[in-house]
Amino acid sequence: AKESGRNTYAFYTPSLTVIANEKLDLEARLRHALTQGEFLLHYQPQLDIQSGGLIGCEALVRWNNPQQGLISPARFIPLAEETGLIVPLGEWVLRQACSQARAWLDAGMPNLSMAVNLSARQLQQPDIVARVAAILEETGLPAETLKLELTESMIMGHGEEVVVLLQDLKALGIRLSIDDFGTGYSSLAYLKRFPIDEIKIDQGFVHDIPNDSNDNQIAIAIIGMAHGLSLKVMAEGVETEAQRDFLAQHGCDAFQGYLFSRPLPAEEFTRFLSGTGPL
Ligand code: C2E
Ligand code: CA
Ligand code: CA
Ligand code: CA
Repeated sequence: AKESGRNTYAFYTPSLTVIANEKLDLEARLRHALTQGEFLLHYQPQLDIQSGGLIGCEALVRWNNPQQGLISPARFIPLAEETGLIVPLGEWVLRQACSQARAWLDAGMPNLSMAVNLSARQLQQPDIVARVAAILEETGLPAETLKLELTESMIMGHGEEVVVLLQDLKALGIRLSIDDFGTGYSSLAYLKRFPIDEIKIDQGFVHDIPNDSNDNQIAIAIIGMAHGLSLKVMAEGVETEAQRDFLAQHGCDAFQGYLFSRPLPAEEFTRFLSGTGPL
């Protein structure tokens, strides 16, 4: 047993050490990136699915690494969440998105909604409501312009204190949206306890519309039940006209996706808003 223990040790330790070191290294580089201003936001347009009009955008973070170029959030958000770095990073994202939205207002652009992803760690901060209020105050953004995107798992199973927390956030005048709807275990019946405004149908369900009759039925059911609860429905990951048309026909309210545009750097979004850019 001793020998096999030693063999196991010899076999596993190097790779675990390498992984741990890579994590430490990435964590250190993330911290450094935050102090060096290496993060930036891209903005993906959100449209009214019935009229095609622009209604807002979602802010999505990217890491502009001097060596590797733009790095997708899928590669660093999980570690940022694990280490707690998501708290200062998420706060930077919120401030940056609000001040960009204020700048667009100041430039005479239409009042669009600005959606920002909030992570579980941020929501768990005891002073999260005061922090959001302070950023609105600091940037001068009207509260109704801001929409926070939460996921089901962040509010599920946390009982009455989350209901109160969300009510306090709503009392600031902002809107709340449930991201990736359908991927968790909650039901709309459960969600009705929470003061939310919108649900986003996860792109996993949108992907095979209109060819997969199960996904078609799921989308139809989500839209019907959401409307029954007076919630708006945003579809994400819409890539084809067939997807958009199917969702529009079944009463979906809004969409975002590559069909209309990828997430854009601020300058490109500004050119688009001022009518001088492509798209
Ligand atoms: P998410 O919030 O579900 O964001 C939607 C993702 O789908 C974005 O990926 C977006 O670029 C991508 N997308 C948009 N339209 C399409 C489409 O038509 N087809 C396909 N295949 N994909 C589309 P992105 O920007 O790589 O972000 C990935 C995830 O990282 C986000 O998923 C979100 O969970 C997280 N994330 C991004 N920015 C932030 C942030 O500032 N804070 C936090 N906490 N999480 C963030
Ligand atoms: Ca989102
Ligand atoms: Ca999503
Ligand atoms: Ca998703």
